[in-house]
Amino acid sequence: MTTIPKRGLETEELFRRLEAFRKDDVNWRDGRVWAYVYDPGAEAEAVIKRAYTLYLGENALDPTAFPSGMYLENELVAMAAAHLRGDANVVGNFTSGGTESILCAVKAARDFARANRPKATKPHVLLPTTAHAAFHKACHYLDVDVKLVPVDPKSFRADPRAMREAADENTILMVGSAISYAHGVVDPIRELGEIALEKNLLFHVDGCMGGFLLPYFRRLGAPVPDFEFHVPGVTSISMDFHKYAFAAKGASVILYRSADVRKYQMYACANWTGYTVINPTVQSTKSVGPLAAAWAVLNHFGDEGYLAIARQVLDATRRIADAVEAMPDLRLLGRPDMNLVAFASDSVSVFHVIDEMKLRGWYIQPQLGYGSSRENIHLSIMPSNVRWVDAMLADLRECVEKARAMKSGELAAKIHAAFGNVDPASISDETIRGLLAMTGAAGNALPERMAEVNEVLNALPVPIREKLLVGYLNTLYRQPEGGSDA
Ligand SMILES: *Cc1c(COP(=O)(O)O)cnc(C)c1O
Repeated sequence: MTTIPKRGLETEELFRRLEAFRKDDVNWRDGRVWAYVYDPGAEAEAVIKRAYTLYLGENALDPTAFPSGMYLENELVAMAAAHLRGDANVVGNFTSGGTESILCAVKAARDFARANRPKATKPHVLLPTTAHAAFHKACHYLDVDVKLVPVDPKSFRADPRAMREAADENTILMVGSAISYAHGVVDPIRELGEIALEKNLLFHVDGCMGGFLLPYFRRLGAPVPDFEFHVPGVTSISMDFHKYAFAAKGASVILYRSADVRKYQMYACANWTGYTVINPTVQSTKSVGPLAAAWAVLNHFGDEGYLAIARQVLDATRRIADAVEAMPDLRLLGRPDMNLVAFASDSVSVFHVIDEMKLRGWYIQPQLGYGSSRENIHLSIMPSNVRWVDAMLADLRECVEKARAMKSGELAAKIHAAFGNVDPASISDETIRGLLAMTGAAGNALPERMAEVNEVLNALPVPIREKLLVGYLNTLYRQPEGGSDA
């Protein structure tokens, strides 16, 4: 068992061990990972680290003791509001990420409805099927229902007609994305805004991914639809600094058109014996480090710096989208509005393509089939990826060729036969263990090839997928065998 060591370690030894823990991580520094890490380059990284550590110990819990935290937060909110064409009435808060920003927006909507919408007796959030999972999570945590509305099956944009039909007196919040994660497209925010005004709904635009970069793409001439606060009907927007503003992880912002709605996001507690708790967001004790790092990176690059980055990324994305479209075995799912690209195949298994690409040193993301969106490959094109575009596309062509000769579909057929009509509630832990064994993911380590795991997941009905994933996660997080110094 791992225990706290009796004696402290020598600093060098301690860091040697910390470095060693990373040996199996994806190597994002070489620029061949097309997800997860938003690498701003060495110079910006040094600035970010210095700012982060400068404020590491300061606590944003109490703005009277640490006005620096609140000052940085108000500066970041102001820059975000101006970037998203908000006026002086826009208010907001800094959060740890998109998920927390979205949780705050749903919490504000729920409590706003409790105070102002007595008819909403069974409140729900109205979501296009492409809305981020974070909304489902927020509704799950806050005990609010989700009402899902299918999107246009070709463009993968929200369908305003279907959204209008689905909205009713129990709708406490409507959501649109700019951009959606899966397909990288902007929903018709103007049309949705009209519905929000007509039906008197709160309307959140999820700009976690796109909020920061889209305005730069527009300035470069890309046809980016309006999604910001100048669109009538938009009442809140979330935007992550830790994506395309390249801030250190733990940096997002939630903005509201006015303070009347935002007040329902806040929390105070004087109903105990300790210090008075006043929290605008989820965290209470909170390092000022991420705030300082976000402020530093915005001031490091400046508007011109970001525009220059956007130019490179836009060009690389166009080259990739065009190349994918030209490959006979592949087709784009939607035409990307930013730099996130999804593509599927009707002739080869994309899961095999992903495994083959991994063998060649590329890390690319699978997305499972859902509704009209069949299983696909997702690329986020980062500045660090730009110099690799041609090499990646060449390997992609070859890996698609290789995948053509590989078996797939047999597991899926078995899964369909076994689980197609099963009630998810009747699935036992035993069955889940059996399924895990079938995928080869039963032990502690992940299997070398993930195609089988992905094929099984892809074939399972969604509620069983979720059960399987929870079962798996519950086996993954456990005490390390042999202790941390093994
Ligand atoms: C990343 C993302 C989120 C969630 O943000 P986290 O920072 O991962 O919590 C929400 N919406 C969209 C569109 C995203 O891309």
